[in-house]
Amino acid sequence: MSRGKRLSFGLALAIILVVLGGLAWFLVAIFEGERPAASLEPSLQYLNGPKEFNLKVSDSKSGLKYLIVKVVQEGRKVKVLEKKFPYKGFLNKEGDHEYTQHFTVDPSALDLGQGSIELILEVRDYSRRNGGDGNLSVVQQKMIVDTIPPSIRAVSRMNYINRGGCGFLVYEASSDTVESGVYVDGMFFPGYPAGEGYSDTAHVCYFTFPYYMKKRPQLYLWGKDRAGNESKAGFYYRIRRRRFRTEAIYITDQFLRKVLPYFSFYHFEENLSDIEKFLKVNRELRKENGAAFYALRTKTEPVRLWEGRWLRLKNSATMARFADHRNYYYKGKKIDEQTHLGVDLASLAHSEVQAANHGKVIFTGRMGIYGLTVVLDHGQGLASVYSHLSEIRVKEGQRVIKGEIIGTTGQTGLAGGDHLHFGVMVNGIFVNPVEWWDSHWIQDNITRKLAMLKKRP
Ligand SMILES: [Zn+2]
Repeated sequence: MSRGKRLSFGLALAIILVVLGGLAWFLVAIFEGERPAASLEPSLQYLNGPKEFNLKVSDSKSGLKYLIVKVVQEGRKVKVLEKKFPYKGFLNKEGDHEYTQHFTVDPSALDLGQGSIELILEVRDYSRRNGGDGNLSVVQQKMIVDTIPPSIRAVSRMNYINRGGCGFLVYEASSDTVESGVYVDGMFFPGYPAGEGYSDTAHVCYFTFPYYMKKRPQLYLWGKDRAGNESKAGFYYRIRRRRFRTEAIYITDQFLRKVLPYFSFYHFEENLSDIEKFLKVNRELRKENGAAFYALRTKTEPVRLWEGRWLRLKNSATMARFADHRNYYYKGKKIDEQTHLGVDLASLAHSEVQAANHGKVIFTGRMGIYGLTVVLDHGQGLASVYSHLSEIRVKEGQRVIKGEIIGTTGQTGLAGGDHLHFGVMVNGIFVNPVEWWDSHWIQDNITRKLAMLKKRP
């Protein structure tokens, strides 16, 4: 072979190799096996109405060709969304490689029945694989269509509520209800299953028409099921107006000298006079303490712990009542006003204090202006408060029975003399304690209504 022929043979071989290489590269490119990436959000367990979803698909190699979103229910397929992507440029280089889209799944528009469905996203690319169909990615989501709100209905026909007092409602809530209770204007009072011996659907709710609300509130029953469907129902109630007393309290220097040393733990600004310190305690510390009492509402047990009439401090006189409006005077001038949120009971100094009913200790210790305090949970949002104690005889977490000694009276905190400040809370809101000492009130407002509830068969 001449040198010239060898050269041209070599060149031909090189060209063939390049062509073959190019062909191989081309085939690998058009038959690529990488599936498109696909995601579907959010991931839901239940569908209770039209819900918006967001899909995101991408294919870095041959690009997006086709996508479809469908809903399948018991073999029936409904198309929700379909999209074809045009092929653009050499090897679809200018085609779509990424795509995002919002879409809505509306059970009623798609004529879906109640029960399980499957939401399916399928996306294909422009690869020549699979007989030219391309690589396929599938995202599937199983969920349950539930658009029927829970059924909820008051059982007690007439409900009386004293302003500042406790209301009690018994009601039936269908078994799919996961949360229910009473709304007093914008304020929610959670209800609870009635408990042992009652049917699963039987519920109870303690609530109040708060002492501070001036105008008549709108009350209604509310419930939500696992899918998020909500129901509202009215019930009959009658609110009895109550007038609260107004009381004048005269602050003397002698009183200030007596009570202020207790508040040495409080961070006063420098150079405050005694009366300025008193005002800080009476306003700011009182407010902090109110928030701390309110926070205790979450520590309640879902079952009823109490039974029968509540106990009142033995041989005691009432010194101040619930929701007394107190005007404070110093050197002849009005300096402050506050509301008294319990009943003050005075007996002999260091009298033994009994648990008003069965319960569980959820707080012990100093509580600002209330001094040494014990709080008992009685279940289902009810709690009792014992303040100004000289000694505490129980520990947090401990169960107590009605009548058990939990401490002794004293004058810790903002107290002029030895007494027990007794409070009752409904879901963290103070209510008038006197109702709970009255067996007739308990019979008419609680026991009689509980008897109307369905018993467990
Ligand atoms: Zn008091």
